[in-house]
Amino acid sequence: MPCARRYALAVDQPVQRVCPHCARISFESGPRCPYCGGSFRRRGLVGFALILTVFAIVVLGGTALMLIAAGNEFDRRINTEVENVHREFQTDFDDIQQNVRDELDRRLPEPTPTP
Ligand SMILES: [Zn+2]
Repeated sequence: MPCARRYALAVDQPVQRVCPHCARISFESGPRCPYCGGSFRRRGLVGFALILTVFAIVVLGGTALMLIAAGNEFDRRINTEVENVHREFQTDFDDIQQNVRDELDRRLPEPTPTP
């Protein structure tokens, strides 16, 4: 009966496991491999936790590095911008100073003697 066989496969699949020690597929639902007796439940969980931890460290570390790099880049840009503004302001200020001096010189061509 092909239908019954397919049904049995579908039912068996949730408990199908691959042993991390001998790499054999077993249909045991117990915590140990029926072929080599190795425990695959705890090892699998520890491995999964280890992978999760490594993944978390990599992601968090990568994010932190990215944030640090972005922060450094931001600082650099801000510094450059501040320097530019400062330079521009200084130039403008020098110009204004010169303009005021010129204007004063133009309006007061000769100093009048004060009483
Ligand atoms: Zn095994």
